[in-house]
Amino acid sequence: MANPQDYITTINPTWCQGCGNFGIWAGIRRALVKLNYQPYQLALFHDIGCCGNGANWYNTYGFHSLHGRALPAAVGAKLANHKLVVLALTGDGGGYGEGGNHFIYTCRSNINVTMIVHNNQLYSLTTGQASPTAAPGTKTKSTPAGSLEVDFKPLQVAISCGATFVARAYADDMQHLEMVLEKAVLHQGFSLVDILQPCPTFNKSQTRQWYQDKIYHLEDQNWDPKDKEKALAKAAEWGVRIPLGIFYQENRPTYEQQLPQLKAKTLVEQGAKPVDIKEFLAELK
Ligand code: SF4
Repeated sequence: MANPQDYITTINPTWCQGCGNFGIWAGIRRALVKLNYQPYQLALFHDIGCCGNGANWYNTYGFHSLHGRALPAAVGAKLANHKLVVLALTGDGGGYGEGGNHFIYTCRSNINVTMIVHNNQLYSLTTGQASPTAAPGTKTKSTPAGSLEVDFKPLQVAISCGATFVARAYADDMQHLEMVLEKAVLHQGFSLVDILQPCPTFNKSQTRQWYQDKIYHLEDQNWDPKDKEKALAKAAEWGVRIPLGIFYQENRPTYEQQLPQLKAKTLVEQGAKPVDIKEFLAELK
């Protein structure tokens, strides 16, 4: 049986005191313990950002990618060895901004990867500029007169683009976070878990009190996650009340299940064979 210590290195996190990333870090480990995965069964792909620094303190297979590129790296690993449990950990900036098209593509592909977004509505590693999920009018160093764009709606985009598991959780709501993460990792297909993450250092608007006054659980409302139309409407709710939970889930063949090349063995088990490409190159002349 795994225990939470199995997944961490001896390096101490450098996150600020009170950062919501601590809760997400704990929630991920608790879910992995519950699922009884050993560290060698896991591959975690990190983006650049405060959450990305977590690459140093997870004791699993892993890769610290370029900004916005955690998802394509995770997809590559899943295709090379689809027996691995693959998670992509990003912030809202890298995941929805620089990596926006990777996000759309991966929703469409339904590859069996879990994307966990540490969403604090800012680029916090670079000291708090507005990210795609920042509300219109948000004042930051990069938007001193208030941001002019409408905010990116990750759950609505994910549902529209074909993601088969779409959920929102909150970093401090440990039991609920653990439950959502556990189900996301078990889901066969692309899973998005957008986690609301307090950043007490730079986000003085979305404070813990702000979240606590608004959040509620879909699971307490007899919610049916199979209804796509209702899920899209519910994903639009943001303001006086903010729903948490599994908005949408459907069963659809995963990308890798549809590849005949992967039916018998993983790519790594098949081994690399030298291929003569002279003939192919000649065709391009
Ligand atoms: Fe966390 Fe914000 Fe500090 Fe980054 S800047 S470690 S997100 S509290």
